[in-house]
Amino acid sequence: MSCLFCEIVAGRIPARKAYEDESVVAFHDINPQGPTHLLVVPRKHITSLNDLAPEDDALVGLIVRRARDLAGESGLGQRGYRLVLNCGDDAGYSVYHIHLHLIGGRRLGWPPG
Ligand code: AMP
Ligand code: ZN
Repeated sequence: MSCLFCEIVAGRIPARKAYEDESVVAFHDINPQGPTHLLVVPRKHITSLNDLAPEDDALVGLIVRRARDLAGESGLGQRGYRLVLNCGDDAGYSVYHIHLHLIGGRRLGWPPG
């Protein structure tokens, strides 16, 4: 089964990449929910939070710290931002390759819709 974010990671489908290294890729969401909306993904295909294994712990740390750094580089470090990992239908999970949303640049409501 082909995976959209695996294709973006491999460069076979275009995306506006903001960062990449040997483990992690970040790119702009195609349907941004704020002035800043990046998706930070591991190169490794992990289908969802439900599929995370203990061996993925370091990767989760990497995507969280990378999102934090990208927030800082986007000027959001002081004003704030939100990191979101959706999982499953109730959360509207739609691309089955784990991805951390970095959303900011506007006042974000809570609770989320
Ligand atoms: P989620 O609801 O957590 O599964 O989020 C999936 C996200 O992927 C949504 O915010 C979409 O707008 C975004 N998305 C879908 N296709 C693309 C694409 N080709 N490039 C960038 N972002 C995408
Ligand atoms: Zn994938």
